[in-house]
Amino acid sequence: MLTPTLSDVPVAPNSVKLPSFRLLVVDDDPAIRMVSRMALEKAGFAVTEASDGYTALSWLKSHQFDAVLLDARMPGLDGFNTCRKMRDYLSDDPIPIIIATGQNDDVSIDAAFECGATDFAAKPLNWRIISQRLNSLIRARNVKKHLNSRSFQISSMLKTSSEAMLILDQDGTIQGAHQIERLPGQLGQTFSLGRCFFDCLPAQSAHHAINAWETAAPSESVNKFALNYDIEGVSFTIQGRFIAGVENEFLCLLQDHSDAFVAERRMFELAYTDNCTGIANERQLMSELNRRLKNDLETGHHTVVMRFAAADLNGFEPRLGRPGLAKLACAIVERLDIGLNGYLAGLPENSIGTQALISRLSDTDFVILLSGLPAIDFVEELAEGLARRLSSSFEIDGFSCMVDWSVGVADSEESVSSADGILSATAYALQSAQYGCNSGQVRRYNAELRNRIYDEIELERLLRRDIADGVLEMYYQPKFDLSNLSLIGVEALIRWTNSELGFVSPAQFIPLAERAGLIVPLSHLVIERVFDQIVRWREEGRHEVPISINISGIHLNTRTIVEELRAGIQQRKIKPDLIELEVTESIMVEGVGKALQNLNDLRDMGIRVAIDDFGTGYSSLSYLRKLPIDCLKIDRSFVNSVNSDPTARAIARAIITVGHDVGLHVIAEGVETAEQLDCLKQLGCDSVQGYFTGRPVPSQDFTRFFHGAQLGN
Ligand code: C2E
Ligand code: CA
Ligand code: CA
Repeated sequence: MLTPTLSDVPVAPNSVKLPSFRLLVVDDDPAIRMVSRMALEKAGFAVTEASDGYTALSWLKSHQFDAVLLDARMPGLDGFNTCRKMRDYLSDDPIPIIIATGQNDDVSIDAAFECGATDFAAKPLNWRIISQRLNSLIRARNVKKHLNSRSFQISSMLKTSSEAMLILDQDGTIQGAHQIERLPGQLGQTFSLGRCFFDCLPAQSAHHAINAWETAAPSESVNKFALNYDIEGVSFTIQGRFIAGVENEFLCLLQDHSDAFVAERRMFELAYTDNCTGIANERQLMSELNRRLKNDLETGHHTVVMRFAAADLNGFEPRLGRPGLAKLACAIVERLDIGLNGYLAGLPENSIGTQALISRLSDTDFVILLSGLPAIDFVEELAEGLARRLSSSFEIDGFSCMVDWSVGVADSEESVSSADGILSATAYALQSAQYGCNSGQVRRYNAELRNRIYDEIELERLLRRDIADGVLEMYYQPKFDLSNLSLIGVEALIRWTNSELGFVSPAQFIPLAERAGLIVPLSHLVIERVFDQIVRWREEGRHEVPISINISGIHLNTRTIVEELRAGIQQRKIKPDLIELEVTESIMVEGVGKALQNLNDLRDMGIRVAIDDFGTGYSSLSYLRKLPIDCLKIDRSFVNSVNSDPTARAIARAIITVGHDVGLHVIAEGVETAEQLDCLKQLGCDSVQGYFTGRPVPSQDFTRFFHGAQLGN
């Protein structure tokens, strides 16, 4: 590791000027370092060189710098890792770090931002742009604290984030200046507060601005003008426009329009905007959210994120095609924009510091970020209003498209104070909105939802631990033949008694396990236990009956389930027809993924398949013939009222008849009374399972059912 020496510190060339910004240039190539030093010193920087990442770090720790220019590719510690270490060291100090990448590809750009770089620049470096960029980034960091805190109605600024902004009174006097560091060179400094804007302009093009002003002033219109500058032999074009502001003020937006700058900005747009709609993308959203959240926390304002999720935009693709889909996305953004601006314009006086950003997170997710809010009592009303706007149909290329929306809202008060935290809070709120079936449903992340999520997270944590520790156990419920009441099968049902929570119902933790990715490990545990139980009963010489295992659609869809079961069966020499899998109708009808193929393979192995809860969801009896199944289980809801409700009886009868027609065994589950049992017998049902004939019990209590089980035991 090289130790920097003082002889490396350059002497600032223009000692008459203000103190130069101190720049640390890090590159392993001595030729590039030399060129950088020459170019950047010419631009007025004081340059310190370092030839590798570690040297750069020790410089940074021992001296003050205003900015760092880092080569991405260096032997040893590369630019990205150097940057990461620098950020760790600098913690909250936002010293600009620019990473010079070889390519403009997304991977390098992403890597640069991920390691905490402020910016990236493509090699070969354009020194004019780099020095402008460095200047503006350094000044942005320095002036941030001094920025005029005067705020204004900002919604029209949403898409103009690369512009500098002046606030002019009705006489053209400069009342406020924002982001003037975005102007090239020292230009921004010419627009000092209290001066007349038109006096600050280059003589040869000031009249363009005056013309635009004269047409803009009486009306509410936007008027563009161009200013040509020639500074030290370099020409710039600045494009400006006036927008009528509040209280007779005008906003004057200025932007560098020189070719090189436009090209560079284009690169930024690519990195920071959604290429379909032109609005902010996720990267911009996250960086803005971070920035504004921090700001709002400091100033005691609120930040709100509203997330609008469309149920299925891609469903329109067959009719609209990709171009039509893009138009639909733009139309959605436009409605959000108009609705939002209308609403913000009506906010009370003290809301004038409110800023908004519309962004697109994915094809179907549109996000509004609101910051600088003095109060948030209106956000639900706003979200609902916007959702209503989005719910009326969109006319695209002659097609009318109705979109279903759910909206999740979170704010800096109710959720965590990090960008990630607030965004996941919207995701939770969204999920809970989606459970509600009304379109346009708005859910706000609040204490109740948070508690529910915390409960669920806690439950998930305990379940994960108990699955790993094998705490869960199996209960077994007998199934009986209706003609002679002999034991014809067993259903394995999982039981979870947690040391802290006590008994938790499978109806609660099975769906959680499915959401939390725990269902496959849980299913493995069940299968192991059941297989071991079969072996034990065989060794005890018990009467052999098939055991049913409930299998989640998620597990059935995995690539490995067939081999897992095959291996388990072969290892223990279990007859495959002693295993029955209970699956629900839904997976059969959706026929998604590998489920159907897997069922076919399992059945070819000799394993039996039953359809659980039959009649509840899809109930198309006609598809039964095509499915690889052996048995139908009539759902408990029909069995419940089979002897009292003619409709339930009719359904049960139909299931039994059709089931028999296609050669299936039909069992009724949830039989609780002798009347239900008699009725099912009359209807011709094959077998029964339920509290009346035997509750689920642990294996040691099950033995009584083997002894020529009698009803009422
Ligand atoms: P299921 O597969 O429909 O299981 C039948 C449920 O009805 C069981 O509830 C059982 O205890 C209950 N039951 C049995 N006879 C009667 C009766 O006469 N009256 C009433 N009211 N209920 C009766 P349990 O054990 O609470 O399980 C609920 C659900 O959790 C099961 O519904 C099944 O979907 C799931 N489940 C249970 N064990 C497992 C398992 O090992 N793996 C998977 N993937 N799911 C399981
Ligand atoms: Ca079942
Ligand atoms: Ca069932």
